[in-house]
Amino acid sequence: MTHQIVDDRPLPEGLHPDTLAVRVSIPRSAYGEHSEALYLTSCFVQPSAESAVLRYAHKEPGYTYTRTGNPSVTAFENRLAALEGAEAAIATASGMSAILALGLGLLKSGDHVICSRSMFGSTIALMSNVLGKFGVETSFVSQTDVGEWRAALKANTRLLFAETPTNPLTEVCDIAALAAVAKAAGALFVVDNCFATPVLQKPLALGADLVMHSGTKFLDGQGRVMAGAICGSRALVEDVLRPLDRTVGLVLSPFNAWVVHKGLETLSLRVMAQSANALKIAQWLERHPAVERVFYPGLPSHPQHELAMKQQAGVGGSVIAFVLKGKTPDQQRARAFHVIDRTQVCSIATNLGDVRTLISHPASTSHGRLTEEQRQAAGVVQGLLRVSVGLEYPPDIERDLARGLDTCAEIS
Ligand SMILES: *Cc1c(COP(=O)(O)O)cnc(C)c1O
Repeated sequence: MTHQIVDDRPLPEGLHPDTLAVRVSIPRSAYGEHSEALYLTSCFVQPSAESAVLRYAHKEPGYTYTRTGNPSVTAFENRLAALEGAEAAIATASGMSAILALGLGLLKSGDHVICSRSMFGSTIALMSNVLGKFGVETSFVSQTDVGEWRAALKANTRLLFAETPTNPLTEVCDIAALAAVAKAAGALFVVDNCFATPVLQKPLALGADLVMHSGTKFLDGQGRVMAGAICGSRALVEDVLRPLDRTVGLVLSPFNAWVVHKGLETLSLRVMAQSANALKIAQWLERHPAVERVFYPGLPSHPQHELAMKQQAGVGGSVIAFVLKGKTPDQQRARAFHVIDRTQVCSIATNLGDVRTLISHPASTSHGRLTEEQRQAAGVVQGLLRVSVGLEYPPDIERDLARGLDTCAEIS
């Protein structure tokens, strides 16, 4: 049973997501506050002993204990579900705890999972090292070749897991095609929608069974809190994942839920504005003589440009990767560090989806734990830089990057 939220009046049907983002799922106390209250409490007072029995059995609506439900958390879950077009959503403490909840809730020893080789590094580690320890086997395949996914299927394949676009090279996979592969095999298909967000891409409408999020990135968008979520059918979210989460306690704190719930109100504006800025900066980078190659789904030079435009509402997103020219890996690395260190506006940080532009060197940070061979295979060369474009005026960011790029040739 889901908890009730006291909305003033029921909303009419057929509202656009931009309207839903600011109007749907507003918890309101008896005081009638217009801004959503923050329910910073670990437990709830019960009206009677009999009510407590019914509520603990989930036979009567009403909150009991924040690990099992909290109005601020429910508010975020319902608003995100509305934006993803899902029947239900469950919030978790971080993106990684959402993936752990998926593993614990949907898999058992002896099950097989197929994942892209280009997944977020901690996702690969969670599948291989954590779930692997409990007898779950994972095959890693190409991000873009659907045939490899089909060939990796086994009788015990229970889950296909994809992320698109990927970090840092913005590789795009075909969600509808992979959903069809999963469906034909009787497996569940999960999409990590962290990079595109429901503003650009709705995986459930393309056939995915579940969508997961790191709310730490675009959903908050202002770099304040950690959060995660899983959206999908009521049968999977409410009947399978929520009982698991209530027991193991991967839950989101009410304060963080209140922050990301508010973040969703400006998600569409931020994603569209940041993507428009990113396209300008990607085009500028592609013309710069110090740059060897730019990876950005919004550029016609991107290998999956057409698929990305079809799948992502014609928008490339706000993460760009680019490789600097350089004769040797050492020279490339020195030039990459030079470009980073000459910036005065961009933040040197590995997060993404923030309203402030962030720059990072994946080979020495997010992908620093991989061997040189693994990095080469993933395309994470020493000259690669990643920029998560924010809301600054694009020419200011171009000038900031130009400080290092224009003087790269001096670095031998
Ligand atoms: C950051 C990230 C995660 C993990 O989320 P956390 O909130 O940091 O736990 C998962 N997937 C992708 C694509 C990410 O960028």
